[in-house]
Amino acid sequence: MVRTGRCLCGRIRYEVTGELPPLVNCHCQFCRRAHGAAFATVCWLPSSAFRFLSGEEAVRRYARAGGFRSFCEDCGTRLFNGLLTGDGFISLVVASLDEEPERGPIMHINLESKATWYEVRDDLPQHDSLPPEVVRALEAMKRS
Ligand SMILES: [Zn+2]
Ligand SMILES: [Zn+2]
Repeated sequence: MVRTGRCLCGRIRYEVTGELPPLVNCHCQFCRRAHGAAFATVCWLPSSAFRFLSGEEAVRRYARAGGFRSFCEDCGTRLFNGLLTGDGFISLVVASLDEEPERGPIMHINLESKATWYEVRDDLPQHDSLPPEVVRALEAMKRS
């Protein structure tokens, strides 16, 4: 399975291969500010599943505290986040995909810094931080 995605202006295009891992809504203060939103919907992919199709030269990185956020220098669209140490994963900003994902998010994470003005009104599990089950799933992906 191959999916494509792009930034708002279309200069950067990418593809991801394989099954789309479960989506999560991240409510951390960094995602909120970077995205200008109450939360960001992301999924973790092996870096090897991601490939630029065009516009890689337009990708800018905001790096801080061991992590980075990639975005388009022209339109500012957020594309993915990762660790500077390169742990083999990126967290893809799901809204940049061309096709809508078949399934919605499975949980809310990092609610410890949730926006006070936003109320979660669904029945999905809510976690104050990154739950161990997600960490374990990432470890399992690394081994496979
Ligand atoms: Zn762009
Ligand atoms: Zn976050």
